[in-house]
Amino acid sequence: MSQVTIFEMGLRDGLQNESRSVRLEDRLSLAQNLLKSGIRELELGAFVREDKVPQMAGTSELFQKIGKPAKNTRFWALVPNLKGFERAVQSNVQSIAVFTAATESFAQRNIGMSIADSYAVFKEVIQEAKRRKITVRGYLSTAFGCPFEGPVSAKQALKGVDQLMKLGVFQVSIGDTIGMGTPKMVEQVVKPALKKYGAKKIALHFHDTRGMAAANALRSFDLGARVFDTSVGGLGGCPFAPGATGNLATEDLVFMLEGMGVKTGIDLDFLARSSLSFQRKINRGLTSRYLTAYASQQKTRIANDSH
Ligand code: MG
Repeated sequence: MSQVTIFEMGLRDGLQNESRSVRLEDRLSLAQNLLKSGIRELELGAFVREDKVPQMAGTSELFQKIGKPAKNTRFWALVPNLKGFERAVQSNVQSIAVFTAATESFAQRNIGMSIADSYAVFKEVIQEAKRRKITVRGYLSTAFGCPFEGPVSAKQALKGVDQLMKLGVFQVSIGDTIGMGTPKMVEQVVKPALKKYGAKKIALHFHDTRGMAAANALRSFDLGARVFDTSVGGLGGCPFAPGATGNLATEDLVFMLEGMGVKTGIDLDFLARSSLSFQRKINRGLTSRYLTAYASQQKTRIANDSH
């Protein structure tokens, strides 16, 4: 039984931030390997405009090809509005996510709506989803810092969490979109959020932009958080923080937690091998520290064997 739930976002939050699109068959084989490694919460894609986010084109095909999730497994898709929701329904998606921000300027720039308008849109989406027994998760981005407004207060972040909860999402993922959070800031948001809503309803989504992702995850774990969003290999980034590293890498978090004796349900060795083979499909090195060390260790082993 896993003590921590790893919510894998590489195929969506990761790939949508890659400059090149990855072929559908490579996305499918990555998804299948993630499932084999033990991932049970898997975000597969987004029903967004393909002309604006070409990396997410073919999401419905991906859902079709991968088939129904096994028991205790969920396949998620991001939907920005009712139109995206209709496409998700057509693809038989059972678990969807909606996305807003804690800061007004980020909401405007990223989803093209005010925060208030995004809630009005989600209200409709969530009503429809409930009617169809579809589970909805909510993302709150820029919860610790905003590229346009700077640091975000705990009060402002918690207000966003409350608003999403009020709409009826099953869980809120609190996102440090540009990696501005430090453990103390994290504590000021996570502690009251966990107290109010409990560990099942709160997820943490850290970015490693300033190298704080593992520290922030550890602080959250110590405070009782048990759901973490991660991205295989550390895929991803933020369009407003060019060149920055992406999400907390799945491998890095699993390494830390398993090293602490915490069960994640993930086979780290299998995952690392799969990530290294995926790395060849995208034109760059993945940023996961664990993976980098794993790859160089393998090289050393090969060199030793050949002596
Ligand atoms: Mg992210």
